[in-house]
Amino acid sequence: MNLDILAIAAHPDDVEQTCGGTLIKMAEKGYRTGVLDLTAGDMGTRGTPEQRLVEADAAARIMLCSHRENLRFPDARLENTIAARMSLALKIRELRPRVVILPYWEGRHPDHYRASEMGYEACFLAGLKKLDEYSEAHRPYKILYSSIYANVTPSFVVDISAQFERRMAALLSYRSQYGGGQAGSELFPEEQEIRERLGAMARFYGNLVGTKYGEPFVVKETMVVEDVVAMGGRSL
Ligand SMILES: [Zn+2]
Repeated sequence: MNLDILAIAAHPDDVEQTCGGTLIKMAEKGYRTGVLDLTAGDMGTRGTPEQRLVEADAAARIMLCSHRENLRFPDARLENTIAARMSLALKIRELRPRVVILPYWEGRHPDHYRASEMGYEACFLAGLKKLDEYSEAHRPYKILYSSIYANVTPSFVVDISAQFERRMAALLSYRSQYGGGQAGSELFPEEQEIRERLGAMARFYGNLVGTKYGEPFVVKETMVVEDVVAMGGRSL
């Protein structure tokens, strides 16, 4: 399978809060998009891993993804082992994405920054010809980082004004997490609260580039521009 974009995340429902709008927008442009979740959230207070997998599939359909799967690595104790990196690298060779979206490399939850590191190293390994004789080498061309927290300085912002509601609908398909009124409800934001929180974040980043809603991305390398006349983002 040749994907144009693959988002790799620690938990089901992470991409719906970070880069889901961009995945939807790219699918609308005709690109083949995919999501690879590393864990099924088996340490979560609410719901079962099986429920979350069903909910993740529903969310993937709403986000117009061509592919979504879960590697079932251990939740809340994700480890960057050789075995885990190899599994991830072989999956990248199979899916052959041109662009990979990883979690930002800093964050409160250890799974997020570990997933970031594992994803980066797996992308590198996937490009090594001699890694595995049964699969063809593939190194993604571009790695973008997306953050679940509101405190990153983005390299660029994608306008998701037209995709925000669909992204919200995808997130709310995790009924076991955001359904309300169940065990552990003091820990989990209810629907209205999460809508306000994600709306505020998307409005903040949208505001940076003069649109209603935006998703921030960070790249480690310097951005290259071919046509300065066609550049977006108004200066004055
Ligand atoms: Zn997460």
